Amino acid sequence: TPLNSVEPPLPEWGVSNSIFLANISDFSNWSRLSSLWPLLYGTSCCFIEFASLIGSRFDFDRYGLIPRSSPRQADLVVTAGTVTMKMAPSLVRLYEQMPDPKYVIAMGACTVTGGMFSTDSYSTVRGVDKSIPVDIYLPGCPPKPEAIIDAVTKLRKKIARGSFVDRVSRPTRTKYSNLKHR
Ligand code: SF4
Repeated sequence: TPLNSVEPPLPEWGVSNSIFLANISDFSNWSRLSSLWPLLYGTSCCFIEFASLIGSRFDFDRYGLIPRSSPRQADLVVTAGTVTMKMAPSLVRLYEQMPDPKYVIAMGACTVTGGMFSTDSYSTVRGVDKSIPVDIYLPGCPPKPEAIIDAVTKLRKKIARGSFVDRVSRPTRTKYSNLKHR
């Protein structure tokens, strides 16, 4: 049998095979969800679980997530750890320095509701959504790395459904931004 008789036929490339139809909103969403750059923000034990994602075992980079140290280069903040009243103005300031569109995952019981500090503590923010808008809530104490990946997947699906303009002018809730640093 001649060798070329078992080879798959070559595609006939033409103009019809080179055109992809998509609206600008879909293209914009695809580019956003494919390259989320999280800010390195961690205040306590939850960040240990987040940090493990950066290593080779979970390989966060395969989702296009490249951790950044500067808020000006980040479009995602995962609030990994307890947010205190003292820390809240800094978190708001970091969030405001991030360029739009930007997203927030509230990671861990402490940031979702205050966690173990939700009843008696005078110094802990009871729900980080009182200071910045939250897209995905991730409960747990602490959430496992697999749960963080699941939260990122949910965020990516949310971004895929978003419209082109609905993220640009989302206001920052600045309840704590006027507090003085002590
Ligand atoms: Fe630590 Fe649990 Fe609070 Fe996370 S939720 S910061 S693991 S006490």
